[in-house]
Formats: sequence, structure tokens, C-alpha cells
Amino acid sequence: MTISQAAGNVCTPSALNTKKQETTNSVKSEVIYLPGTDCALKSQASLSAFTSYRVGGAAQWYVAPRNLEALHASLNYAKEHDLTVTILGAGSNLLVSDRGISGLVIATRHLRYSYFDSKTGQLTVASGESIPSLAWQVAELGWQGLEWAVGIPGTVGGAVVMNAGAHKNCIADMLVSAQVLSPDGTVATLTPEQLGYGYRTSLLQGGQSPSSSKDATRTERHCQRIVTQATLQLEPGADPAQVVALTKQHKKHRLTTQPYNFPSCGSVFRNPKPYTAGWLIEQTGLKGYQIGGAQVAQLHANFIVNRGGAKASDIFCLIRHIQQQVQERWSICLEPEVKMIGEF
Ligand SMILES: Cc1cc2nc3c(=O)[nH]c(=O)nc-3n(C[C@H](O)[C@H](O)[C@H](O)COP(=O)(O)OP(=O)(O)OC[C@H]3O[C@@H](n4cnc5c(N)ncnc54)[C@H](O)[C@@H]3O)c2cc1C
Repeated sequence: MTISQAAGNVCTPSALNTKKQETTNSVKSEVIYLPGTDCALKSQASLSAFTSYRVGGAAQWYVAPRNLEALHASLNYAKEHDLTVTILGAGSNLLVSDRGISGLVIATRHLRYSYFDSKTGQLTVASGESIPSLAWQVAELGWQGLEWAVGIPGTVGGAVVMNAGAHKNCIADMLVSAQVLSPDGTVATLTPEQLGYGYRTSLLQGGQSPSSSKDATRTERHCQRIVTQATLQLEPGADPAQVVALTKQHKKHRLTTQPYNFPSCGSVFRNPKPYTAGWLIEQTGLKGYQIGGAQVAQLHANFIVNRGGAKASDIFCLIRHIQQQVQERWSICLEPEVKMIGEF
């Protein structure tokens, strides 16, 4: 039906059809090593374990480079073999099709390092670093500024691309610069202004501003730029106990107001101001509504949770159902914040 590709090239239906047989379980997995590296490329790698929804099919090829050299080698491999590239952070904002993804999925989870500059209060981190881990680390150092992010289970790269935010804060407000690798191999250091930030959007998501899109299911335009590193401005010098206490408070608030006990991708829809998506969905009477294993969470109606055994198609159908019902009742088109990848 609709195909949406995160950060990588758009998959055309015909491209997917030609790869479909290769993404069935009957096809054997294969491992090859990128020339000159110890970096392994795996074929038919299941992605469900790498997304917070715990659903989705296999990647035609999957690689998780441990350094920039291996990342470059992965991109070269994709270019040489004419493979579309999809970037995967922690997979906490992704709905991967049951049919899987054609091309090469590059996971950033092993791109890790962090450098704390106590003179400037700047934290420079690799894109694969975990946002909650960083929030706890800086809190224990007595650095303020990341307390709000403790409940966002993504990577630094995903947060920079999505402009992740909570409690009236967002990454754009604290980002000094992001290092971005283009498909041609050039690296640029970009400021927040150059990244064109808006509410949960950035130019790194590709195409026009999603908030201006009438069609919430439109195909994402090509966007192959990869965030490799980010520098965040924080405020050192506070009492660690106080910063840790505020971080704990935020975490507790999240745990009591959002359903962290089931797999999800957090908020499914962007808030159509002045409303919140959760309120609209709740007022439409959809709390608890279920398709297959996918359910509108009782605790927070803008969450769809995997109650066990959900398929990506269940979640996709539930997204469509919610959109349709809210449109009918409120004449408002809810726009997904979650990125849908592959063929649905
Ligand atoms: C329980 C729960 C609570 C959540 N709460 C919040 C919240 O409060 N606020 C909020 O904003 N979000 C929230 N989220 C959503 C999600 O955690 C964020 O959007 C997060 O920033 C996604 O990061 P990620 O690493 O998981 O990215 P992914 O989901 O892996 O990817 C998201 C997009 O970014 C692209 N991408 C990822 N890394 C890179 C990179 N290095 N370079 C280029 N492109 C890249 C991907 O291709 C994709 O298009 C929540 C999710 C869950 C499961």
C-alpha cells in the first residue's frame, strides 16, 4: 500500500517485489566481511529485536559498524551493489514492515564514545550512544540539561534526526552542532539552524516539513545523510544529588503516565496543536481498541502497544483506523510521528 523509508532511499513497490523472496524466512542467512575490516554484513537479519515495537521482518542486509572506517566501508558496499540504505538507531520510533526491508540496514548502535568538556560544559558524543544512559551519566556528574530526556529510549543520532523532546525541552534547544556524513563521503558540521528544526522534525528527515503534509502516509523522500556525532551544551557545576533527583522525578513521571510495560514506539502521532493527539483519540472512544496484538494503550491513548504477538500490519491497521475515526469525528488528520519502513 504505502511505502515509507527512514533515512534511506525510497523503496518502490517493484523493487520490493523483486526482493520479496529473499526476505522470507526460508532463505538462509549469509555473513560476509567488508574488505579490510572485521565488520560483518549479515543477510536476512531479523529486525524485530532491534525495534522497540518488537515487530517487523528481516533486513536484506544488516550491518552495525563499530567505527567510522567501517561505516564508510558499509556505505561503499551499498553503493557498489546498488543497495538502498536505511539507518537504524535504537529503533524506538520505527515500524518495520512484516515483509522486511530491501537494501542495507546500517545500525548505529555500536558507534560509541563520549567526551565531557567540563570547561565549556559541552558533551560530544557518537551517534550510537543511548540518550537515557547519557542523561544518567551527566546527572551523576552534576551537569544539568538532560534530565528531561531520561525516558526517551533512543540514540543520540535518532534524537538529532527526530528532534526528540519531552517536558517542554527538545534536542534542538541544546544542540551546538551535529556531524553529518553525506552519501558522497563528505562530512559536514551543521548547526541547529542549518538542520531546520521544528516540532519533532528536522531537515535530516528529508523532504518537505511533515507538518505541512496533508497525507500522513506519504512516502518519505530520499535522505541518506547520517548523523555520526553531536555536541550538546549542558551546565556543569550543580549538586549531583539534585540533578539525579530531578532525573529520577522525570523517569517516575513517565512510568506513571505512559505504558512502559509493553513494547511501543512512544507517541504514535504528532500533536495537532492546540489539541494533543492522546486527548483526541481518547475522546473518540478508542482507548483499549485492539487489532490483533496491537492496542491503543489504556494509560495513554497516543501510544499503541504490542500486547504480545502483534504484527507490524496490526499496528499499521490500527494507525489507519485511528486516523479515520479521528478524521470523521474532528476533521483533523493525525500525522504519524513514527516512521514506517517497507511495504504495508
Ligand atoms: C517508551 C517510549 C517513549 C518515548 N518517548 C518519547 C518522548 O518523550 N519524546 C520523543 O521525542 N520521542 C519519544 N519516543 C520516540 C523515540 O524514542 C525518539 O523518536 C528517538 O529520538 C528515536 O531515536 P532512535 O535512535 O530510536 O531512532 P530510530 O527509531 O532508530 O530512527 C528514527 C529515525 O531517525 C533515523 N536515524 C536514526 N539514527 C540516525 C542517524 N545516526 N543518522 C541519520 N538518521 C538516523 C532513522 O532512519 C529514522 O528515520 C519514545 C519511544 C518509546 C519507545
